[in-house]
Amino acid sequence: MVGGGLVPIDVIYPCMGCDVRSELALAIGAECDDEGYILVGNHLETTIPRLYAIGDVAKALNQIAVGFGHAALAATHIHNELRKRDRS
Ligand SMILES: Cc1cc2nc3c(=O)[nH]c(=O)nc-3n(C[C@H](O)[C@H](O)[C@H](O)COP(=O)(O)OP(=O)(O)OC[C@H]3O[C@@H](n4cnc5c(N)ncnc54)[C@H](O)[C@@H]3O)c2cc1C
Repeated sequence: MVGGGLVPIDVIYPCMGCDVRSELALAIGAECDDEGYILVGNHLETTIPRLYAIGDVAKALNQIAVGFGHAALAATHIHNELRKRDRS
């Protein structure tokens, strides 16, 4: 505070503003929405086959648990796709 006085408060919570850092995906041709979030399907696959985007860079709730959930979905899909490829 200007002047060095004390201000009584109960809680401080940092503001969560964020910039979407999708430039690498954009550079190789992945599609993003107007805010820069990478467009993904149900398995977090981007518009480029076999490229996945998870966490905050894919539009969601911006929470750690969501990022982990995305990772599980994407990893399972990758695993299943590789198994399909092995069988063919
Ligand atoms: C102030 C604040 C408080 C929060 N509190 C909570 C909370 O209480 N609970 C909760 O669940 N979530 C919270 N979040 C959200 C949580 O931090 C994010 O949802 C989570 O970190 C997203 O993980 P991520 O791996 O998608 O992205 P990030 O953790 O942002 O990781 C992306 C990484 O990629 C790197 N990177 C980016 N561009 C490039 C590039 N071109 N080359 C190389 N590296 C690159 C970045 O440096 C970064 O290390 C909070 C966020 C903020 C900002």
